[in-house]
This record gives sequence, structure tokens and C-alpha cells, in this order.
Amino acid sequence: MGSVSFELLVVELHVVSKQGFTTRQVHADRLLNHPEHGAIHTGTTNSVLFAFEDVQGLIDVFQGKQAGHVYSRSSSGSVVALQTMLSELESGIGGVCFATGMAAISSTFLSLLKAGDHIIVSQYLFGNTRCLMDTLCDLGIQISFADVTSVEEVKAVYQPNTRMVFTETVANPVTQVADVRAIGQFCAEKNVLFILDNTMTPPPLFSAQETGASLVVTSLTKYVSGHGNVLGGVVVDLGNYDWQSYPNISDGYKVADTTQWGLTQIKKKGLRDMGATLAPGSAHAIATGLETLALRMARNCHNAMELATFLHNHPKVAHVYYPGLADHPQHFIARDILDNGYGAILSLDLAEDIDVREFLNALALVISATHLGDNRTLALPVASTIFFENGPQERAKMGISEGMIRLSIGIEDTQDLIADFAQALDQFGN
Ligand SMILES: *Cc1c(COP(=O)(O)O)cnc(C)c1O
Repeated sequence: MGSVSFELLVVELHVVSKQGFTTRQVHADRLLNHPEHGAIHTGTTNSVLFAFEDVQGLIDVFQGKQAGHVYSRSSSGSVVALQTMLSELESGIGGVCFATGMAAISSTFLSLLKAGDHIIVSQYLFGNTRCLMDTLCDLGIQISFADVTSVEEVKAVYQPNTRMVFTETVANPVTQVADVRAIGQFCAEKNVLFILDNTMTPPPLFSAQETGASLVVTSLTKYVSGHGNVLGGVVVDLGNYDWQSYPNISDGYKVADTTQWGLTQIKKKGLRDMGATLAPGSAHAIATGLETLALRMARNCHNAMELATFLHNHPKVAHVYYPGLADHPQHFIARDILDNGYGAILSLDLAEDIDVREFLNALALVISATHLGDNRTLALPVASTIFFENGPQERAKMGISEGMIRLSIGIEDTQDLIADFAQALDQFGN
């Protein structure tokens, strides 16, 4: 912190929150974190340890009586600055960063759950999160998978020992949209944690805060950083859950400010003890990406909508999965919860006589790669790659066809993307 008074900081925060999304993002580091010497970016602090002139300072930070850093596995200036910006982005009360999105997700589950607890999770999960559920099951956690496109399916598997409901907003690759407002209401009624994975629809596309969610987790590797050059994850507490009623908070983590109980336990058990810390250089790369999130997302979504429409009308495409299309089964939910676009993941089934591999090789501009949320448009044969481990039966349950191609739409010029798909489709039959 610089020499700015508390009153001034409050005034600045107030101004920050009234302005538009991109205005806030490009000034967030400067106004929230006050880097030294008027720098517009918080510096990348590589020091692992922190020296104290008076050992009492070290003791006070250890005992939580004073804010500060003691060892950079638990916290460092660069990472805390990013946490502050990401919490502000989601209108939260604080956040914890991790080395990857999976680290954020696994650390959240492992720090908040105990053997014998029951959780409800979406049956349409990111593949690695789905695999993680097998590990949680081995550790004695009971799991019910639910079709989260309807709150009734969530209600049907609720039990007295249900501790949390976990879902993604828009699932990949089939783009099912969770009924997040109704699920949020149900979780509030039952006083159950509601955890959203908002990787697919980061602000300003979707506000987790408006659903009353407790925690929002995001893979920063995807849209938030956007450039395919850094891994990271975050958990933000949205301040909606009363942690005093959560049975699994260890006595030692019941700090004076009860709103901080959840984050304290995630920081201690999830970050400090399990140790998947975000590197300071990565925090800086993510903060840089964050500045253009809204601009990139608008272009990603625009391109996705244009391409979805083009493919939907193409005789050599059998089906397009995209929430922006009027025939998508959850189009009405997507229209209700998403602002400024329908996301940039779309999947398709080609006409039966077209070989998926030959088609992907015929694309000249689009890259065959397993990643999403990048500036570049990426394509992937789903059943033989990211969902290969799950086998045909589980794939069928998730609605994944054997020939499905997932596209992550980038920020290229729209006409160039459409031209690439058009020329590739032209190479097959008539
Ligand atoms: C990629 C992804 C993750 C995992 O993030 P990593 O940063 O790759 O670990 C989690 N959830 C969703 C929805 C994702 O797309």
C-alpha cells in the first residue's frame, strides 16, 4: 500500500465501481493496489521470504494479528494484488489464487469437505473435474450427479447431509446451460453452499453475484488471461453464505471476521497445506490479460454467433450446439442469465459421410488443439481426446456424440473464420 488515506481509498473504490467494465479493469491495479512510484502495474515480487526488523512483526503476521507476508507459498504482493482485482471483478469479498484452475477447484473441495458429506454436482462437467469426483468418492464423499439444466433434478437428489451444489454455468462441449438462478435460490433455502465454475462466462458476460452463489471458481488460463501463455485459477467468496452455519470450519480458522471463515480455511488448508501456489510472474501475465477481457470476450462472442449461424445453415453440418441459437434447449435460460453474448464455445456434428479427422486437417486457419478461451480459434475431436477416458457410455450420458467437434472461437476477423470453414466444408462431397 502507498500513502493513500483510507477515506481516499473508499472514494476511489466507489468511483471505480460506478464506471464501465473496461474502464474499471484498466485502472484497477493502479487504484486498488497502489503500486510504488506511480507504476500502473503491481511489480513482480520474486522473494520467497520476507524479513522483519522487529521479530514481533513476524509473530503478529503469523498469528493473523497484522496483515503481511511471511512466505510466498501462502501469499506475496503480486498474487494478492491480482486476488484483489479478481474479487472486485466478481463483486466479491475476497479471493485466493492458485497455480491452475484445477488447483483452485480441487483445493476448494478438499478444504471444505469431510468423509460422509454429500455433494450435488452437475452431470455435465469439465472432464478433469469429472475425474476428480472419482477421487473425492474414494475419500468417502458421497456424490450425486444431476442434470443442472433443471432445478427439479437438483432438488430430487438433495439429502440432509448435502453440503454443496457445484456446477459450471455453460458446460463444454455440449453447451448445456445450468438453471443457475433457480439453483441459487434452492441452495439459499437449504443453506447449502452454491459453487459456480464461471470459466466459460466470465464477467461482463455473467454475474455469479446475481445468482446468490457462495463461491465462484475460475480457470484464469482461459478467457481471463486469454493469450494461451499462462496457467492460473481463483476462488472468490461472494459474501452470500453465512460460514457460521457451515459445520466443517476448523476452530483455528474461525477468525474474528466471520465473513472470512471460508476463505481462511481455503487459504490455510487449500493453498498453504496443499501448495499449488500461483507464481508471481503468472499473476502479472493474468493481470495484463484482464485489462482487455471485455473487448476480447465481445469479439469472441460475436464471432461465435456469426459462425454458429453460418454452420447451422450449412447443408454439410448435421447439428450445431450453441446457446445463442433459438433451437438450443436452454436458449431461454442463456438469454436470461447472459449479458453481452452467448459465450464462445460451440460444438458441431458434421454430416455423417464426412470424416472428422480429414475435416479438421482441411481447416487452414483454425488450430487443432486442446484448450479454450484463447485469442485463436481452436478445434478438437471430443470423443477421441478430452472425453476418451470416459468411454462411450458416459459420453452418451453427457450428450457427447462420437463425431462431435468442439470449437473455441477466437478474435480473428469474422470473415476469415467463416471463409476457413467454408473452404474446408467445400472439400467434401456434394
Ligand atoms: C480449463 C477448465 C478448468 C481447469 O483449468 P486449468 O487452468 O486448465 O487447470 C476448469 N473448469 C473449466 C470449465 C475449464 O474449462
